[in-house]
This record gives sequence, C-alpha cells and structure tokens, in this order.
Amino acid sequence: MALTVVGSIAFDAVRTPFGERDRMLGGSAVHFALAASFFTEVNVVGPVGDEFGEAELEVLRSHGIETADVERIEGGETFFWRGHYDADLNVAHTDETRLGVFAEFDPKPTDRSRGAETLFLANIQPDLQRRVRALCEGARLAALDSMNLWIETERDSLRTAIAEVGCVILNDAELRMLTGEPNLLRAARAVMEMGPGIVVAKRGEYGSALFTPGAAYALPGFLLEDVRDPTGAGDSFAGGFLGYLDGCGAHRPDDATLHRAMAYGTVLASFNVEEFGTERIARLKVEEINERYAELRALTHFDAPG
Ligand code: AMP
Repeated sequence: MALTVVGSIAFDAVRTPFGERDRMLGGSAVHFALAASFFTEVNVVGPVGDEFGEAELEVLRSHGIETADVERIEGGETFFWRGHYDADLNVAHTDETRLGVFAEFDPKPTDRSRGAETLFLANIQPDLQRRVRALCEGARLAALDSMNLWIETERDSLRTAIAEVGCVILNDAELRMLTGEPNLLRAARAVMEMGPGIVVAKRGEYGSALFTPGAAYALPGFLLEDVRDPTGAGDSFAGGFLGYLDGCGAHRPDDATLHRAMAYGTVLASFNVEEFGTERIARLKVEEINERYAELRALTHFDAPG
C-alpha cells in the first residue's frame, strides 16, 4: 500500500503563549507525511527553495518518506507561513503567507507517486490540488483539506476540487464558511451533496466528527495537560487517519474502520501539539502511538481494537 501527499512544504514562524520559533520545518504536507509514515509508505510532492537543506529533507527520509518528488527550484524561496495563537489555541491567526516556489509550481510526479492507492491533497491552492488529483490515476481513495484563505479567495475552484475527491477533512469553522450552514451536520450534508461520501470535521481540542451517508459519529480529543503549539494538528490528524486506512488497505472503508482511523488521527494530533512544529512527532515511537490509542479507547469506551 502507498500514499501520496501534495501540500505545503514550509518554514513556519510561530508564537504561542508558551514560546516561539522563528523558522522551523512545517507545512501541511510535512506534518501529514510524518504522521502517516507510521502506518504506510508515503510519497511527498511539492517544491522547495534553495534554503531548504539536507537537514530538513533528512527529517522526512529518516521516517522512510520518499522525497523524489520534492523538487528544489533554483533561486526560489520555500513557502513561508507566520502565525500566532492567543489563549484560545483552537484559533490560528495568520500574520504572513508567502507562497514562494508554489506560485509557479508545475507538478510532475513520478510513476511511484502517481500509482499510490491513497492520495491526500493537503492544504494548498485548489488548482494545484486538482492538477495533482488528475495526475494520480492510481488513487482509489482521494481526500482533501483546505483553509479559510482558499475558501475566501478561490471558492469556485475549491468546490470543483471537492467534487473530485471521495473524502473531505476540514475544521468545523471551515465547513460552516464553505457551505454557509451554521449547523455542522447540515454543513457536512451540503459537502456530501458536492460529491464526497466521507466528511470529517476537525474540532480542535474538542475532537472530531465523521459524516457518511446516513451516519454521524463524534470522538472527543485526547485531553492533555501541556499543549504548546497546535500548528500542524489538523495535518497530523489527517496523516494518522488516512495513513491507517491506507495501511490496512481500506480504500472503500466501512464505518467501523473509519472510527478506528479517527482514533489514530486523534492520537497523532495529540502528540503533535505537545511541542513546537514537528519536534514531538519527529521522535515519536510506534509503541507510544499504540499505548495512547489504548488509553483513548479506554477513556471513551470506544470499542474497536486497533
Ligand atoms: P494546521 O494543521 O491547519 O495547523 O496546518 C499548519 C500548517 O499549514 C503550517 O505548517 C503552515 O506551513 C501551513 N499553511 C499555513 N497557511 C497555508 C496556506 N495558505 N496554504 C498551505 N499551507 C499553509
């Protein structure tokens, strides 16, 4: 089994009430790939600039992630995001976004990336998501994430991109914004009417909800005493969720399998927020994932051995 992801590969500058970093490895594709790498083979597609060095690539490679489609653009600048969080860590405030090499990126993924059974279109311009979707003919399960910026500035192409995938993973505020529907269940149904049969709502520290035709399911978050930086939590959730599905060959998953995938997503996101950027996930061990999965099961009476 294999999974391909396209999305931002970034340097992030982040400030939270618990500290700050001027320049750390980040990006939706990076956070996603690291989380998914615990479950399956992962290929990353996306451009980087000159200053993206071997040390950054090594973080990915040391997790067995294939970086042949990480294209270095000479003279280009790596995607840069600056943001901060106030006391409510569920709300990210964007201070600066520089697309850099993404502005002109022309994806040319290898056969290996194109043949992966699972595809994740992580948060990036919807037109780029669509181009990669069209190139990855092997994908039997394709999922997409986005954010308020693209909902505001590229709503039509985002709606078209959504119609071309089977699964949408957005946070609750984004689902409401996209559909104009204040009620989450109705908003999820409105997204299903666009095409996807699986809609996941990420709800920050409160957990996540899953909508499939005729069913709705909610799972609480894993409560932690120390949360330092929520950046990448959504992508780590998606990485645990889709990585688990791909790893067990579930490309047309039933509801019980989706519930287990939600629990793995929850566990990966919970590790991600304990430290800044990729710091915690970069040294995470499979045993820690399994331990926390069992703890989440016991705490929530969630009844499915992983
Ligand atoms: P999240 O999981 O939503 O916290 O995603 C955080 C990551 O998204 C950060 O590492 C950023 O580099 C990346 N990011 C922020 N804004 C954008 C954007 N407009 N497009 C793509 N990626 C972004």
